Amino acid sequence: MIRHVRLVCCLIFFGLAGVAQAKPFRVLAFYSMHVEQDHVDFAMQAIPFFQEMAKRDHFDFQATSNWDDMNPTALKKYQVVMWLDEFPSTPAQRKAFEEYMEHGAGWMGFHIAGWTENRAVWPWFSDFLGTVFVGNSWPPLPATLTVNDTTHPAVKGLPARFVSPDNEWYSWQPTLRSNPNIKVLMTLASSNFPLGFKDTLGGGDVPVTWTNTKYKMLYTNMGHGSKILNSATQNLFFEKALLWLGGQS
Ligand code: ZN
Repeated sequence: MIRHVRLVCCLIFFGLAGVAQAKPFRVLAFYSMHVEQDHVDFAMQAIPFFQEMAKRDHFDFQATSNWDDMNPTALKKYQVVMWLDEFPSTPAQRKAFEEYMEHGAGWMGFHIAGWTENRAVWPWFSDFLGTVFVGNSWPPLPATLTVNDTTHPAVKGLPARFVSPDNEWYSWQPTLRSNPNIKVLMTLASSNFPLGFKDTLGGGDVPVTWTNTKYKMLYTNMGHGSKILNSATQNLFFEKALLWLGGQS
């Protein structure tokens, strides 16, 4: 009987310890239906993809197309925000996001989330991202990606190279390598170049996934069209990245 009670006590103790370790987190994904159709297509696939992941990995996932939900009252219920196919457009939305990130929350941005016409549009965001969009490839094509640091929790366990499905690939200036706060996690492999037909990326150092270590953030350039989620390896990266941002890795 005493042994039985001890066993129950142990189960309760370790059970609670297990719950304490896997602290659940809440994600709010912003998307828009009134943007480029290829970007909407990605968002419409990403939402159920992350809903399934949330069930599997025990976090909460909500999505909204109301970008005015980017306000301090709404954001404080969530530990991670995603931008699936758009970005904030009003001063109030931008200010709320800045304060949210300055206070240690997480952000995962896909593809167009990193796009700005130029640095002057939103200087804080350009510093947060570490660079500004300068060019793109066209049409969407698969590309071989080099994983630059397989020890980072967002990419740990991934192969050193994998083929990422059809995407429109962006290039950036200034180079992220010169920024001491930026950790580049994936780059377009040199074997891809020239990449594109109508619009071509000719070569050089083109990062596709990185984090600004001053923040809990990760930007990834994937997110154009309906084939993005066709790679099990890439999907594993999306999962690892989100769990890292949510404090689960
Ligand atoms: Zn695109």
